[in-house]
Amino acid sequence: MTPKLTALIIEDEKSIRSFIETTLNANGYKVYTAASGQEGLSFATSNCPDVILLDLGLPDIDGLQVIRQVREWSILPIIVISARTQEKEKVAALDAGADDYITKPFGTSELMARIRTALRHHHLQASAPGKMPSPIYQYGGLIIDYEKRLVTLEGQTIHLTQIEYKLVTLLARHSGKVLTYDYIINQIWGPYADNNNQILRVNMAHIRRKLEANPAEPQYIFTEIGVGYRMQESQIE
Ligand code: CA
Repeated sequence: MTPKLTALIIEDEKSIRSFIETTLNANGYKVYTAASGQEGLSFATSNCPDVILLDLGLPDIDGLQVIRQVREWSILPIIVISARTQEKEKVAALDAGADDYITKPFGTSELMARIRTALRHHHLQASAPGKMPSPIYQYGGLIIDYEKRLVTLEGQTIHLTQIEYKLVTLLARHSGKVLTYDYIINQIWGPYADNNNQILRVNMAHIRRKLEANPAEPQYIFTEIGVGYRMQESQIE
């Protein structure tokens, strides 16, 4: 089983929230929902979704504030669900860092198309600017197919948890470069995560047991003591 894409819906209107949740579930997403901005922010930092669907008119804090706070630590795609017809608010949302918006009422195909587009752009943006990113990481017997979300070692599928998969692909997309503990923790768990590296170390130990023939002498992911981790540079540009 490959890890599912995860989506967070921040929307106080129950009927719209349920509609989006049902649509995304039917399309294979793991879905989290929140009915307020604060609840949404707390879910975003603890569950690290792949995409956020965000209503601008929330009962507690403004949707723009949610965008700004998420943008302090993540470039994950944010699609605004807008009931507002004013261009001004949509522009403000995009200026604040939203990737796109969808105006109520909308259908399932339009919703899925917006999400696919945002994820594709995110995929490009997350790589070197101006350069088409390779859809595959490969070094020796290890292959990561980002589009299929599939990790294989010597032809065998490696089963990773969602967090493990996020860690491996974060390192793979920056392969050859050291990533600090803080950078990794910020990227995976957000800045409000516990600052100690224990959760990262535990996850890295699990990953090594799955990927490395001898975890004490790793071939793929190296520890830079006191600094962070470095993944063997991909043989595919
Ligand atoms: Ca609302």
